[in-house]
Amino acid sequence: MFIENKQGDLIYMTSTVLPARHAFLTRFGGVSEGIFASLNLSSSRGDDPERVRENYRRAAALMGAEIDDCAVTKQVHGNVVRIVTRADRHPALSKVPYEADGIVTAEKGLPIFCFTADCVPALLLDPENRVAGAVHCGWRSSVADILRVALEQMERLGARRESVRAALGPAIGACCFETDGDVPAAVEAYLGGDTEGLWTRKDNGKYLVDLRLANKRRLLQLGLAEEHIDLSEECTFCSHGKYWSHRYTKGNRGSQAACIVLE
Ligand SMILES: [Zn+2]
Repeated sequence: MFIENKQGDLIYMTSTVLPARHAFLTRFGGVSEGIFASLNLSSSRGDDPERVRENYRRAAALMGAEIDDCAVTKQVHGNVVRIVTRADRHPALSKVPYEADGIVTAEKGLPIFCFTADCVPALLLDPENRVAGAVHCGWRSSVADILRVALEQMERLGARRESVRAALGPAIGACCFETDGDVPAAVEAYLGGDTEGLWTRKDNGKYLVDLRLANKRRLLQLGLAEEHIDLSEECTFCSHGKYWSHRYTKGNRGSQAACIVLE
């Protein structure tokens, strides 16, 4: 179950399946203005860098860390998942020296962040073996099987699939994720045909696809326990006042983060 939390001006969601400090941030609680109001965490879309820095400082503080002591994804809609350590701590707003749509860690006190605005943010945690992951699951990364890669990387750090928990956060829902036939075809290939209930075909020939549910289906195939998987019910497009939605804003938007830290 997803729960709404408030700390100062920050409003963020947490999942009851993840027994670790974590957050799915919203648009609320930052200092950016105009189309970036207010908690924009993207420094590459035209927002004032000093405002983004303050937003990022607040997000890091929520994870109990200083602004330059976090690790982040560098998202390219691929399926690379990088194991990060303290050596990968990222000076805020600087260029990230690797490409990875997902990052995983066993390092205590190192918050890891991924960023979305309609795509599915997945936070992963093995609470027994102390391994965490943050994964950006757009449809291209999803069908490139990034969640399988993330689980394999977590296993290299000692995680065991039967104890891994997964929370799939606020993302564009099946109500609003309209696509051409290429997305259902790719999802069908990725799931080996196990696609019942994952899309509907509209009269105009387009499809409405449930990408969050597709990713849940994949996690079940990969061996996660159903009770260890939690899905947000919020649609970023419908709730565009609370979350950044790339489609609603036609690309004129900020980004929200999902983040987790081992303590
Ligand atoms: Zn919607």
